[in-house]
Amino acid sequence: MKRVKLLRKGGAISIRAVSLILLYLAIACSWQKGSDAAEESAPVPVTSVRIIDANREPQNWLTHGRTYDEQRYSPLRQINENNIGQLGLDWFYDFETRRGMEATPLVVDGVLYVTGSWSRVYAMDARTGALLWQYDPKVQRSWAVNLCCDVVNRGVAAWQGRIYVGTLDGRLVALNAETGKIDWSVQTTPIDKPYSITGAPRVVKGKVIIGNGGAELGVRGFVSAYDAPTGELVWRFYTVPGNPAEPFEQPELERAAETWKGGAWWEVGGGGTVWDSMAYDPELDLLYFGVGNGSPWSRKIRSPGGGDNLFLSSIVAVRPDTGAYVWHYQTTPGDSWDYTATQHMILAELEFEGRQRKVIMQAPKNGFFYVLDRETGEFISAEAFVEINWATHVDRKTGRPAIKRDAYYGNDKPFLAMPGPAGGHTWQPMSYNPGTRLVYLPTMKTAYPYQLEGNFQYSDFGWNTGIDDLVAAMPEDEAQRKALKAMLTGYLVAWDPVKQQPRWQVKQANIWNGGVLSTATNLVFQGNGAGYFNAYDADQGQQLWSFFAQTGIMAAPISYAVEGEQYVAVTAGWGGGVPLIIGGMLSEAANQNVSRLLVFKLGGKQKLPKLKTTLKILDPPQQTATQETIERGKALYHKYCGACHGNSAISGGILPDLRYTQMHPVWNQVVLEGSLESRGMVAFDTVLSQVDAGAIQAYVIARAHADKQSLLTQSP
Ligand code: CA
Repeated sequence: MKRVKLLRKGGAISIRAVSLILLYLAIACSWQKGSDAAEESAPVPVTSVRIIDANREPQNWLTHGRTYDEQRYSPLRQINENNIGQLGLDWFYDFETRRGMEATPLVVDGVLYVTGSWSRVYAMDARTGALLWQYDPKVQRSWAVNLCCDVVNRGVAAWQGRIYVGTLDGRLVALNAETGKIDWSVQTTPIDKPYSITGAPRVVKGKVIIGNGGAELGVRGFVSAYDAPTGELVWRFYTVPGNPAEPFEQPELERAAETWKGGAWWEVGGGGTVWDSMAYDPELDLLYFGVGNGSPWSRKIRSPGGGDNLFLSSIVAVRPDTGAYVWHYQTTPGDSWDYTATQHMILAELEFEGRQRKVIMQAPKNGFFYVLDRETGEFISAEAFVEINWATHVDRKTGRPAIKRDAYYGNDKPFLAMPGPAGGHTWQPMSYNPGTRLVYLPTMKTAYPYQLEGNFQYSDFGWNTGIDDLVAAMPEDEAQRKALKAMLTGYLVAWDPVKQQPRWQVKQANIWNGGVLSTATNLVFQGNGAGYFNAYDADQGQQLWSFFAQTGIMAAPISYAVEGEQYVAVTAGWGGGVPLIIGGMLSEAANQNVSRLLVFKLGGKQKLPKLKTTLKILDPPQQTATQETIERGKALYHKYCGACHGNSAISGGILPDLRYTQMHPVWNQVVLEGSLESRGMVAFDTVLSQVDAGAIQAYVIARAHADKQSLLTQSP
């Protein structure tokens, strides 16, 4: 293609030149047919046939989970157990922000496409890392207040010469894959509601499928399909019913509405956002998507008369052409704990009692590993993969969890649930290896004291979970914090989905770790919250290789090949929901957030630049407020500030740690007037008075003094 452009530069193209070009193209095409050098050909568009037959081109990573079954398994064989010691960094790319990195890159014929924070897209030469183009959708930084869990993005979709990205403010944008220029852009969500998109689109049968998030803030979940060439809306599937006094958008919503009782859930939204996982079975022609938690969190507010509240926390199967409902399976009926079923879903063929079954597998937040028949939605089995206490088991006949009565917390005392809202496992992708027949998943042992907010009132600003955030404030005492940190543990688990038990597990330094890749050469790759990118042997879990990435890793790795050379790539960078809230307690690496793409190959010799360390000094102004004011400030801080600046005013290393802030003289300008709105810190004057802002400031100053004192007493 480049040669054509060069000829054109000279002026009008002669007939002779045209015939020369045609001859060149003919020779090039016939030569390519006869060789294995498909990677060097002119761009061939990604099609359904290519994605369905993705195993024929293991050098590429064409869709989010590599294949429509989302196994995240690489058939490439160059990097193996014997030579893994020679794996080294070959190139890296520094992103311009220091926010969470959750993206899985795609690789299409030698070009790598990846997303960074604020929904930015980058196209790079997959061999050298040279930037080919980048696209910034210029999301208003003030939109950050509508996000539960950082300004992250989990990746793009590729289809017929276009790259598709969902933006934080709800747009779906189609970019020209060669230039990065916008082909079309549509607003997929109502702009007057706190919706967001962080998940990767999938393209199925010429339709771009995209969901959204926002259930913590209060929205109604849905998933949409847009015509890939034009951006025209083809269908939309609402996951929860709207006001039953109005007509239902889909027939099955009438049945769903019978499972919501006595509340006005539609005023808060109801929740059920489809913010991450999808899978597709081309033989059955079924598209699967995972549905999130309720808004507000507790059924007692949404649906005081009880009921399952369909289709919250469910896996739903629809026809991709029409969005027509086929089946659903609800993992957490009447969800009250933010137990989303949006976690990664994997399709595989497994043998049960001598019978091959087409299954779908999921390890959602609620802590049970599910295996379902993906043709019918029939429950096959479920066992707990982490310590849980909200239910005793899942009934084998009905497929329903036996939920403990006291798990439905009230407003008098908290229910300390395991897992907490972070889940036993969340969005970090798993991997299924058809060789070992194991699922590799990052698990978390978490707990959370759920208690209803005394007098829940819906607010059109900020979170609407209906939870008393102060009850969940972390201990301020250093020793107690350390003890708590020791209780929160993460594991990389190799799970046998047939026996429903772990084959092996590796304990991690903290709970928040990376997604997983497994390979045909018995390797499992995973980054972790302590800043290491590791490889394990897939059978036994022996650590075979490790690389210090200088920063926590959450994203899942991929593997690809260019010109016969195999690479392993991962985006590094600490952030996301859990690190924002409690990251400061979890990880040393959190203090050194570096957002990077790291690419490895055998014999790679590249080194990361030395980290710059900055000395932070606690120097708070004098405390002038009363203890009563400080206590009031603590409650307000945890309601309005803690989700971004960290529980107990300890930052997760992503946003400013207010204990160290020098902004005290301009506190009200920042908090009430929005003087830092261009950086994402909006004005809180609609919910906070000057007295409130002063109380929060007093609490922050008190926390800084307390920690300064504790540091002084620890010093020798
Ligand atoms: Ca949620």
